[in-house]
Formats: sequence, C-alpha cells, structure tokens
Amino acid sequence: MEVADPDEEEPEDLQEFRTIESMRVERKGRGHYACHSQSQPEVAYMVDLYDNPSPAPYAPLGSCTCDDFTMRRKPRWKSVGLPFPVFRCKHIARVRNFVLDQIVIHYLKAEQQQ
Ligand SMILES: [Zn+2]
Repeated sequence: MEVADPDEEEPEDLQEFRTIESMRVERKGRGHYACHSQSQPEVAYMVDLYDNPSPAPYAPLGSCTCDDFTMRRKPRWKSVGLPFPVFRCKHIARVRNFVLDQIVIHYLKAEQQQ
C-alpha cells in the first residue's frame, strides 16, 4: 500500500493490524485452528474457540497454546470471568477475525439471494 506522504509514518494501530492479519490461519477441526507466528511462521499455536465458556450472551473466551495466553491472559480472565478482548491473545483475535470474515461472506451471499 502506498502512503500519501512518505515522511509520514504509518499509524501504530495500522502497523499492529497488519502484523495480526499477516498471521496464517488453518482450520484443523470443529472450532480448532492453527495460527502461525508472525515472527516465526514455522511455529503454530493451537486455538480452540470453544474453550473457556462464558456466561450468556458472551461467546467463549477461547484458548491458545502460546505463553501470552496461558501465563498472562487466562489467569487474569479467571478473576473477572467475562471474555473481554484484553484477555484474548493476538492468535485468538486473529482466528476470530478469520472466522468472522467467513461469516460475513456467507451472510452477504445469502442477502443477495433474497
Ligand atoms: Zn496465543
């Protein structure tokens, strides 16, 4: 993508978005996905979207095998109990966004057939 002013740096949130969206996702089974590390693409973390159920109307928190989730975020979630986005690591966030894209595609196709 071209930046209008070459002296102007890309905003930090856009850089972070690019980093997250560049992580490759593979569906492994029902609710289970492999999310590849951005810095080491040969490394993949396993994300389970069903894990850590939350009270209605919230979707489950999900889980990830990375250290950030298992050592930091999940323990913090346990004291609050609600699946706030801050308790999800970037791999869970990436997989949820990947799934959301599939849902939107299906939704738009269905809407066009009405
Ligand atoms: Zn993770």
